[in-house]
Amino acid sequence: MICSKCHKNGAILRKPFSDETFCFDCYMSDLIKRIKRNLSKSGQLRYGDKVAYLIPSVFSATGMFGLKVLKSIEKKYSSNVITFTDDCYLVKELKTIEKNVIEKILFIEIPDEVKQVFNDIGLMKWWRRYRTVASYAVESVGFNSLIIPMCSDAIVKMEISSIASSNFEGAEENALVMKKPSGFSFINLYHGITCREVSFFSYLLYSNLYEKQLLAEYNIKRSIADEYAENILASAMKWRSGEILNSVDKSLRWLLEKEASNRCKFCGGLSLHGEVCEDCKIFNEKKLYKYLEEISVKEC
Ligand SMILES: [Zn+2]
Ligand SMILES: [Zn+2]
Repeated sequence: MICSKCHKNGAILRKPFSDETFCFDCYMSDLIKRIKRNLSKSGQLRYGDKVAYLIPSVFSATGMFGLKVLKSIEKKYSSNVITFTDDCYLVKELKTIEKNVIEKILFIEIPDEVKQVFNDIGLMKWWRRYRTVASYAVESVGFNSLIIPMCSDAIVKMEISSIASSNFEGAEENALVMKKPSGFSFINLYHGITCREVSFFSYLLYSNLYEKQLLAEYNIKRSIADEYAENILASAMKWRSGEILNSVDKSLRWLLEKEASNRCKFCGGLSLHGEVCEDCKIFNEKKLYKYLEEISVKEC
């Protein structure tokens, strides 16, 4: 099949929910355009500015792909990407693959007392707590926003899982920007971009890392609702249905109406009963907030 954009090269992948099939170069420029739009809309594209970017160790390959795109955009804006991660070993490995992409990487030192919060079951719990910890780390070096590499169906999966376990606070995760009451914001780099596309390129460019990522992802303890959500999405993808991905958020918004305005002070997610969401309660209950405030970073 021939690329439907340049009509020259062989096509490698069909763009989800469309009839377009692109070659590698045309697909890359399409992805860069979409990611750039996300950065621009969320106010992260400013000349000479510094931006904070997170590569969680469990998203090593997709995170790395995001960094590659960020670096190509950065050049035009003379901005500076500071990358944060929770795995220094990963950095050594990254440096051997992409020398140009890796400049400054900071290691998030998570205190043992805080690490226990990742033992609970459930993807959303894990993710909200993880980004909370990361936000404290990047705040400690003066940033007020953090770009995160989470593709859209991974987020929708967590939303469906939340509804399946009667927790409506999982709504509105699939947003470009999520803001904590303090003003700190999380920016979804891959907003509106499917995991299929992100995974495809991450695997193509960083196959070793991608295998590590798959193994790491399976170490996050899933709930029955997570498995259920995964099955729903697997069927939706099989039938190439964009409806499911796009309508979950809208439906939840409609169900919740005005109540959906309170944000958790830790993770910036929806919080329907007070200033802290169900998933982040553990930070208060176990008095972990004092450790959060002490989280620091060092050079890898
Ligand atoms: Zn092409
Ligand atoms: Zn929270």
